[in-house]
Amino acid sequence: MATTPPTDSLRMLPQVEETLRAPELRALETIMERSVLADCVREAIGDLRRRILAGERPCADASEAARAAVEGAVARALACLRPSLRRVVNATGVVVHTNLGRSPLPEEAVRAVADVARGYSTLEYDVGSMARGSRHDHVERLVCALTGAEAAIAVNNNAAAVMMVLSEFARDREAVVSRGELVEIGGSFRIPDIMELSGALMREVGTTNKTHLADYERALAPGTAMLLKVHPSNYRVVGFSESVGIPELRRIADEENARRGTAQGGRDGVLLYEDQGSGALARLDCFGSYAEPTVAESLRAGCDLVSFSGDKLLGGPQAGIVAGSRELVGRLKRNPLARALRLDKMTLAALEATLRLYLDPARALKRVPVLRMLSEPAEAVRERAERLARMMREGVPEGWARIEVVPETARAGGGALPLCDIGTYAVRVGFARGCAQGCEEFLVKRREVPVVARISKQAVLFDARTLADDDLPEVASAVRAYFEEMAAAEKGEGAGA
Ligand SMILES: *Cc1c(COP(=O)(O)O)cnc(C)c1O
Repeated sequence: MATTPPTDSLRMLPQVEETLRAPELRALETIMERSVLADCVREAIGDLRRRILAGERPCADASEAARAAVEGAVARALACLRPSLRRVVNATGVVVHTNLGRSPLPEEAVRAVADVARGYSTLEYDVGSMARGSRHDHVERLVCALTGAEAAIAVNNNAAAVMMVLSEFARDREAVVSRGELVEIGGSFRIPDIMELSGALMREVGTTNKTHLADYERALAPGTAMLLKVHPSNYRVVGFSESVGIPELRRIADEENARRGTAQGGRDGVLLYEDQGSGALARLDCFGSYAEPTVAESLRAGCDLVSFSGDKLLGGPQAGIVAGSRELVGRLKRNPLARALRLDKMTLAALEATLRLYLDPARALKRVPVLRMLSEPAEAVRERAERLARMMREGVPEGWARIEVVPETARAGGGALPLCDIGTYAVRVGFARGCAQGCEEFLVKRREVPVVARISKQAVLFDARTLADDDLPEVASAVRAYFEEMAAAEKGEGAGA
């Protein structure tokens, strides 16, 4: 068989104008700008050209090429119309899943967002004095009530909070930090890099596994601005390791400040700042000794400032909160970075509503989805898994798959409780027809609401801990759709043979 040289194949590619005249694209012109459609056509033809030049043979003749160009352009146009950021079902068992949007918001927060988003709000208006107010006020009182801090400020995220604190208090001065805490959190947040960017001079002490109080004491010098503690998040040195607690660091900071004749946290004093990361407001007793320290505990232990995320263990919107003394937080509020990193009204509304739930910790455990998922007893998770398994068995032909409920391990995610295996139950689908990879891909790529699950040993696992009751029908019909499509494809092949 003679192969057509690429240059000949390229000649069968259609023109842009000619492709735009196809009825499908004419129809789309009623809802989309023609120039956007023309770009879609150009991309589709460009794609065919690339494939031909790469030695593929995407179409046999000019009419097939014209068809392929129209189909490619329509697919691109439809992709523009579909939201890119959309809901997915999280069946991974990772509760605070950064790739899937971290914390689902409490219903109260969702309603608060919709309320202020739709119209005007008291964002910077104080109804008491009927004068200009501060956007910081909406969450400050709540953070103070919940942590015992005198003052607080919330910014874009915790990375921004760390940056702002270092830049305000340690620019061109030394911040002392243990080598065991120079961590990378993921998503390119590395403590040494953020310190450099902030202008703080990093003074590393100790070793990767062990840092002693004497290491900090030796590093203290007249130019020291700060003792920095960083929660190691999803990283732990276990075994022969040692780190210094907040009360001891408080003591040596006080001694240094006494030598300098400055008050705790004063302008020329040494201050003690902890980047706590996950931000636990309530103590999760269900995790025993794994439970993360709470913000209030760190402040009580002696930190001048503590910063933490809004969308990790706290279970609210993306935000970074700094809590501490009135004087220090006041300086942060006046820092130009606070303006650059400030929160918008929707995030403030969500954060305020989430924080308000914590006023009653028992209610927070029920109403904040992250807390509810983390603290749900394994038996309740098993019951949900059983229900999902029953729904799946109803839809999948007998003998095609083995559907069973199995004990598994869930994760908190977001750098919280990294060593804690959270007992959970998952529906395990093993395949007699089809395969785990094919099913996983179908569930993500072919569904209006993608279902993100996990593959283990040639089976797909659907962890019921991160599934809501409302998700179950969606997951079951997605799995059924996979098997139906496979059956249809096999029948098609059978008919063609
Ligand atoms: C997650 C984390 C951060 C970054 O917080 P974001 O809210 O994601 O910006 C900073 N420090 C620590 C210790 C963390 O765990």
